[in-house]
Amino acid sequence: MEWLAQLDLEALGRLSQKVDLPALLGAASRMSDGDLRQLSRMLAGGGPTRALPEPNGDFYGQLGDLTPEQQAVRTAVRGFMAAQVAPIMNDYWSRDEFPRQLLPELRKLDLLRRVWNEDGTRKPDATVMEGLITLEACRVDVSTAVFFGVHAGLAFASIALGGSDAQKAEWLPKMLDLEAVGAFGLTEPEGGSQVSQGMRTTCRRDGDAWVLNGEKKWIGNSTFSDFTVIWARDVDSGEVRGFIVRAGTPGYRVRKIEGKIALRMVENGQITLEDCRVPDSDRLQEVRGWRTTAEVLRLTRAGVAWQGVGCALGAYELALKYAQTREQFGKPIGSFQLIQNHLVHMLGNVTGALALCLRLSHMADAGQMRDEHAALAKVVTAARCRETVALARETFGGNGILLEYGVAKHFADTEAIYSYEGTNEINTLVVGRAITGLSAFV
Ligand SMILES: Cc1cc2nc3c(=O)[nH]c(=O)nc-3n(C[C@H](O)[C@H](O)[C@H](O)COP(=O)(O)OP(=O)(O)OC[C@H]3O[C@@H](n4cnc5c(N)ncnc54)[C@H](O)[C@@H]3O)c2cc1C
Repeated sequence: MEWLAQLDLEALGRLSQKVDLPALLGAASRMSDGDLRQLSRMLAGGGPTRALPEPNGDFYGQLGDLTPEQQAVRTAVRGFMAAQVAPIMNDYWSRDEFPRQLLPELRKLDLLRRVWNEDGTRKPDATVMEGLITLEACRVDVSTAVFFGVHAGLAFASIALGGSDAQKAEWLPKMLDLEAVGAFGLTEPEGGSQVSQGMRTTCRRDGDAWVLNGEKKWIGNSTFSDFTVIWARDVDSGEVRGFIVRAGTPGYRVRKIEGKIALRMVENGQITLEDCRVPDSDRLQEVRGWRTTAEVLRLTRAGVAWQGVGCALGAYELALKYAQTREQFGKPIGSFQLIQNHLVHMLGNVTGALALCLRLSHMADAGQMRDEHAALAKVVTAARCRETVALARETFGGNGILLEYGVAKHFADTEAIYSYEGTNEINTLVVGRAITGLSAFV
């Protein structure tokens, strides 16, 4: 037996004066290889192995300065993710389906009211709060955060910023209670990056209604949402307008996009609008052209930057735990220098990205955040997240591509974070234009 060769015979001799050695060896013959190695280390080193530190991605304790309410929300989301989402997420991810049974449980947390007031104004610490919710959700599952971000961010903000008082009164309370689920339809099959300039979906005034024609692609939650905010260009004025299109409206069809390799638990729809008539009362009355759409996106881009932090943090913690317990060549792989290099690199990414997002959120809540600030955070956290999840996956060896080990889902989901809410290239151009004063947009 290989482990016997490693035993310190002097230590064994000392031990034999205190214990019944034949009985001990009999017990040892029934032990697993791992336990035997542990015993061997105890005999050689004298004394039990030390408890290893618990993985904690908040290395600088940056989240230690939160208010009691912010801490409570973090704890509540962490509990929800562990109890409700973690046990089912791999199954639903594999099935390409959103677990709608989560809605009543999510409703109990009352998370939207931590961010928004009933009238659609934001709480003083709304962006920090949204960030913490996103962080804790993405630590375990990015799809859950995306469901929330689309409903409580994109769709809610569209009505809060672009709706009349009557529209806010009709929709916001139901949205706060998750009794009505919203979606946000901006991107088109011909392109997302150019949509501000080349929007092909049209609206035409016809009496007291509008007629919508066109297609929208990638629209999260739209397969089961109660309404989708559709952005369309007015054929007469050229202005961008927003509409609340209710599920079941004639001429409005949603097909679920199949075969994604990321965020499979999010249901993304391809929407067709064919002479779809929407009453003028469902046109978002306060939309001021593309400016309002851009304002919504600016708010939610900070949230997507937080997705990169949460996803990276979750992957790092999984990788560290694995490195502490997985053994090769008789030692935990975490004791190898090259694996420690991976872990430290990951931790540096997570720590920097977390600092960036906390600062960005404080700026947003103080009314100081500009487009380029949100864009830089999204560029940096998505890129650092991509690097982190790749190193984490690598730390798991072959197990890193199995869903059951957790890290594979983070690895795949990061690809979506990288590309939505402005691809990294587009957000880079936004920052580049701000710092040079020269636009590189074509
Ligand atoms: C999982 C998922 C969920 C989504 N959810 C929603 C949603 O709920 N609602 C919604 O409206 N949209 C949604 N989107 C769409 C998303 O916002 C778009 O995918 C994104 O804006 C990019 O558009 P595109 O995919 O058409 O890529 P394209 O615009 O075709 O870009 C392709 C490539 O060209 C690059 N590129 C384009 N223009 C330039 C340029 N000027 N200079 C340099 N490089 C350039 C891009 O960076 C990218 O690398 C979602 C997308 C995904 C993947």
